[in-house]
Amino acid sequence: MRFADLHLHSHFSDGTYRPEELAAHAQRCGLAAIALTDHDSVEGCPATAQACAAAGVEFIAGTELTAEQDGNELHLLGYFINTQNPSFLSQIAQFQAVRQNRIREMVARLNRLKVPLSAEAVFALANCQAPGRPHVARALVQAGLCGSLDEAFERFLKKNRPAWVPKFKLSASEAIGLIHQAEGVAVLAHPGLNRTDQIIPSMVEAGLDGIECFHTKHSTATSEHYLGLADRFHLLVTGGSDCHGMNKGKPLIGTVRVPYQHVEMLRARAAEIKGKS
Ligand code: AMP
Ligand code: FE
Ligand code: FE
Ligand code: ZN
Repeated sequence: MRFADLHLHSHFSDGTYRPEELAAHAQRCGLAAIALTDHDSVEGCPATAQACAAAGVEFIAGTELTAEQDGNELHLLGYFINTQNPSFLSQIAQFQAVRQNRIREMVARLNRLKVPLSAEAVFALANCQAPGRPHVARALVQAGLCGSLDEAFERFLKKNRPAWVPKFKLSASEAIGLIHQAEGVAVLAHPGLNRTDQIIPSMVEAGLDGIECFHTKHSTATSEHYLGLADRFHLLVTGGSDCHGMNKGKPLIGTVRVPYQHVEMLRARAAEIKGKS
């Protein structure tokens, strides 16, 4: 059987792996295909495509957008994105600018709390277009201002903590539209984490293509629950590890994977979406 891990982050967002490392791990775990799904970014796609080609692993260009519906945050994955699509690129460039301004605002709040971190230190460490809270946390640890990443989130960065700054968010239907416009397949990420089942019907109305049934943080019962919803709403099924790099001494990549037939169904849907656009 051939398998794919369809949810991975690189150092082009808040993961730590370089494209070559992702490709090497994918090859080592025997994955037939991987998708890169960096937050609000496709910056890592060209280099990861190249590294995967060299490693004999199929590469799928993807992204993970943050949306909000009825006060709930949810994440939407886009697969088989046309990473050259000019309007998609200009839209995500806006999200990236929002992220960069948000870093400055988080640092200003830290400074008001007498935590002497500089925005430049965060940008230098992040070294990508889509910096986020994990980079602020790493910069705090690197500067010796926090003992651990957990401490940084607990004291400062978690929702409603003193340095937390909300992020501009799209509605779910806007995010789906944006992914479709870039010829991508729109999939609701890790629904078991956000518990937003009640809005799935409206997302289906808005054109949602699939649902991430298998995820590191989904129990077997949770996966089965979402497989049931996928069946009921005629949605494609995806899954992935959501690997951000090393986790407790080992990488998550390959620990959650789906049979390759799901990649074929995603590809067929992408061809339909492209045909309509
Ligand atoms: P952002 O997109 O800037 O709001 O950051 C969200 C990212 O921060 C998530 O994708 C996770 O990778 C990470 N994250 C969120 N909460 C925590 C936490 N409590 N501890 C560690 N990492 C977290
Ligand atoms: Fe993340
Ligand atoms: Fe996510
Ligand atoms: Zn993710």
